[in-house]
Amino acid sequence: MLATQRLERLAGELVFQAMSLPDEEYLTDLHLHTDYTDGRSGVAAMLDAAVAAGLRAVAFTEHVRRGVAWLPTFHAEVRRERATRPGLRVLVGIEAKALDLYGGLDADEEAIASADLVLGAFHNYPDGLGGFVSPRELDATTAAKREYEASWALLEHAEVDVLAHPGALTRKKFGSFPDELTRQLVRKAGRQGRAIELNGEYADADALAALLRWCREEDVWVTLGSNAHHADEVGRIGRMVKEVLAHAG
Ligand SMILES: [Zn+2]
Ligand SMILES: [Zn+2]
Repeated sequence: MLATQRLERLAGELVFQAMSLPDEEYLTDLHLHTDYTDGRSGVAAMLDAAVAAGLRAVAFTEHVRRGVAWLPTFHAEVRRERATRPGLRVLVGIEAKALDLYGGLDADEEAIASADLVLGAFHNYPDGLGGFVSPRELDATTAAKREYEASWALLEHAEVDVLAHPGALTRKKFGSFPDELTRQLVRKAGRQGRAIELNGEYADADALAALLRWCREEDVWVTLGSNAHHADEVGRIGRMVKEVLAHAG
């Protein structure tokens, strides 16, 4: 079995196969940021919003880098805050970005070992020389190819549980990401036993509907993640997915 141990622990509880999304999955939000990185709300405000939205489980997935020092402080704050909200399950994961096209991940071993969930994300275009290149220096085809190759390698990384927002950077910078490449990534996730994230920040309704359709065709594991950077955004992905499924009939 290729799936990570973390995913196997969460399967059927917080991670579901796309063909059998139970209603409870709409009440999960496994992609939250706080003011420890680029979010604008604190831990307590995010959890209050989750409780107010009636969610049953959330995961903080802060941006980490190799060498970040604040993770133990962050974990301690989350432990304190979740102890006062016993009805809400609170995971502490990480969102780690691809450093290259070959599975390099911008996270320390300790950060991974302490995480309940590891999102692998594509946030910068590798230049092939160990650094990154501005999207302005790329054409759409090259950009899509790099995002695809790096995302493919993330799905092969032993520690990546979920491919966050597939195709999102190229869609944001160049207007679209090829359907066929997204479908290949979904199939790869299925073969690897990893999850594809339905993300609330980057996808419009059409893109989300298409991604969900392909995830259902392959019946891969999916997670719901609002990518909330403010308390107001907690739980939005559940409403979006519900709407998309209602229209899909
Ligand atoms: Zn991201
Ligand atoms: Zn994020």
